[in-house]
Amino acid sequence: MSYELDYERKVSCPCGNGQIIKKSYSNDWNQTRLSIYIECEKCEKEYHVESETKLYLVPNGENLHRNSNYNTFETPFFEELCLCYPIDVLNKVYDVLCKSTTYSKIKDERTRFIVRQSKTSINRTMRISSVKKCVLEAIQKYNDVIINYDKETKRIADVESRCIIVKGL
Ligand SMILES: [Zn+2]
Repeated sequence: MSYELDYERKVSCPCGNGQIIKKSYSNDWNQTRLSIYIECEKCEKEYHVESETKLYLVPNGENLHRNSNYNTFETPFFEELCLCYPIDVLNKVYDVLCKSTTYSKIKDERTRFIVRQSKTSINRTMRISSVKKCVLEAIQKYNDVIINYDKETKRIADVESRCIIVKGL
């Protein structure tokens, strides 16, 4: 089923010599497709379009996507924890685990979630003591891993500060 153009909108690009164009298409099955692109030789060398909560022109070579890729079967659990959580959360979870001996006694929802998360990976037991060990390892190695949740938050904020928000499309 072919898509047909429903509407097209344009706003000025940052340098003013071109445009940012949004085209909306749909087909007979009510499926829609959006195409948003920069039509300016100068600006497209500097930016690309990313659609998050807002529409951004992001400096080329950078991006606003949080990197939280891990392989459940290969990534050590402590690395997974570093990617998924801020250090503050890991510290709190560790405190909870220190006071708990069994899963059923844990009231904190996030801690319960992490214990369950540990189980989804191969060869990992649900024993609180092993989960606790992994959380401690994550805390100790947090700053040494290449990517962690807090570093990603900082990087994204930094990239965002150099983005241009596209309005009116
Ligand atoms: Zn331009």
